[in-house]
Amino acid sequence: MCSNCGARRDWMVICDRSTIRIRCRCAHEWVEPELSRADYEAMIDAGGRDHPSLEAAAQAMGYDGALAGTYFTDPRPS
Ligand SMILES: [Zn+2]
Repeated sequence: MCSNCGARRDWMVICDRSTIRIRCRCAHEWVEPELSRADYEAMIDAGGRDHPSLEAAAQAMGYDGALAGTYFTDPRPS
């Protein structure tokens, strides 16, 4: 759960070498020690996107704080 805005989902997962960080839509970010790079790669394989830079990803995906508190329904095709 995000300690800043209380969101419980719709986070962006960031892999910084071997450290996994979570970024909320309010732009709050924290380290998630229970996740490993293998978990991250599994998420990417499962339909996530990998981006060359954190800022590009944050802006492209709407995690720069502009959408704080906003939830989207998952458009994943069936
Ligand atoms: Zn938040």
